[in-house]
Amino acid sequence: MANEDQFKKVISHAKEYGYVFQSSEIYDGLSAVYDYAQNGAELKKNIRDYWWKAMVQMHDNIVGIDAAIFMHPTTWKASGHVDAFSDPLIDNKDSKKRYRADVLVEDYCLKIEAKIEKEVKKAEKRFGESFNKEEFISTNGRVVGYQEKIDSILKRLGQSLEKEDLADVKALIEELEIACPVAGSRNWTDVKQFNLMFGTKLGASTETAMDLYLRPETAQGIFVNFLNVQKTGRLKIPFGIAQTGKAFRNEIVARQFIFRMREFEQMEMQFFIKPGTQKKWFEHWKETRMKWHLSLGMGEENYRFHDHEKLAHYADAATDIEFKFPFGFKELEGIHSRTDFDLKQHEEFSGKKLQYFDHEDNESYTPYVLETSIGLDRMFLAVFSNALVEEELEDGKTRTVLKLPAVLAPVKAAIFPLLAKDGLPEVAKKIVEDLKWDFNVAYEEKDTVGRRYRRQDANGTPFCITVDHDTLEDNTVTIRHRDTMDQKRVKIEDLKEIIKAEVDVKHWLMKM
Ligand code: ATP
Repeated sequence: MANEDQFKKVISHAKEYGYVFQSSEIYDGLSAVYDYAQNGAELKKNIRDYWWKAMVQMHDNIVGIDAAIFMHPTTWKASGHVDAFSDPLIDNKDSKKRYRADVLVEDYCLKIEAKIEKEVKKAEKRFGESFNKEEFISTNGRVVGYQEKIDSILKRLGQSLEKEDLADVKALIEELEIACPVAGSRNWTDVKQFNLMFGTKLGASTETAMDLYLRPETAQGIFVNFLNVQKTGRLKIPFGIAQTGKAFRNEIVARQFIFRMREFEQMEMQFFIKPGTQKKWFEHWKETRMKWHLSLGMGEENYRFHDHEKLAHYADAATDIEFKFPFGFKELEGIHSRTDFDLKQHEEFSGKKLQYFDHEDNESYTPYVLETSIGLDRMFLAVFSNALVEEELEDGKTRTVLKLPAVLAPVKAAIFPLLAKDGLPEVAKKIVEDLKWDFNVAYEEKDTVGRRYRRQDANGTPFCITVDHDTLEDNTVTIRHRDTMDQKRVKIEDLKEIIKAEVDVKHWLMKM
């Protein structure tokens, strides 16, 4: 399948160009754990900075914190994770493979969705210019049938999960005749719940050691610090607390590369509001977060909202921002209206008041919370997979380009001397010295310039700058643009402004 091929290319490209490696690869790796290499660490940092800038720096009423990964174990009793943070799992008795029951059903629906896409593509070809996709999807009998089937399956799945009716989830898998992708058989066990938290111990002796969990989300670090931050920051409602950091989940099925990992990073923001205003803020954050995504220019058609049928125990509304990954539309970010559930629970379990005194209304209340939660690694995968393209060139050759949004690219410019002699390397290195105060830049002198261009294209570097003999005469260089391959002669002294105009965060975030 073309999409599967594309996904394989993404994974091998990420390795070949120093973006993502399997963790502990020399020991055959550790399942669903990955390391970010020299370029990956830069890209990840740039995504994190882009989020932080938009969420914290650009909002007068949002502050950022950095809470510890270890938290008092009662935190997880209060939050509901000890009792309810589990996934429904099912085993195939023949292959002995374990699956998430809900994911098996969702994957089945994705296959139906692929059929819809096929019908759309066929019709697009048939009708040409006059094709109206919306109309076709809502009127074509076959497509409408497919969509109704998907809707009814997902509705039943959502309802069964909500009622904890695991027998019905199994019945659904059997009725749909879903087979194990490995064994091909339908010999399933019953569906069971499995808690996803990793346990560990704090303390030296076995008798006194305390059982701890590695945090499965960063949000609780914000809730337990709510009052400290509000008081010391003298924050008035509505206000937000943001943080980025590692989270850990013992995922049942961890595949799809960095889409689902056992150790990953989240970027979360909890927005504290007056009870009763949650609908307004839910809409506000849905819109604001979507604008942030669109500002990166990765194609409006690659995003969609998916409102939840099954709400988590703490939520009164929830939606996902889904992105079109190489394996289809999947959750990238969650936006949840969490009510006062978390703060109330922590009040009860800690015995400490976590209320806010509203000076304007002269009353105390437990704030409601709107959460935006995005996986940094998933965002990395979205950006990276969307950027990787093979382009046909005029001479019939192809070039591999990583069209990363310039603001996120690990290396902003590569500087080459045309030849590694005649004083050209010295001038090129001087340009590197000047530019590296402002940008992450690279220097290369091996191979032909054409080859160096290709390597930087595949690495996602937006600009290549070449120093040649004319440079020695007139202080100009050739600057080449990664996407258009256009080349221009410019003055060395103008380089900084030219690069800045395209890689500056402001230039991108202004589009929000
Ligand atoms: P999923 O349904 O895919 O398991 P979730 O609904 O459990 O995700 P949340 O608890 O809402 O996810 O977490 C917020 C965000 O954290 C997700 O939108 C996703 O981007 C990211 N995330 C969650 N689990 C993982 C994971 N195992 N690996 C990488 N990112 C993850």
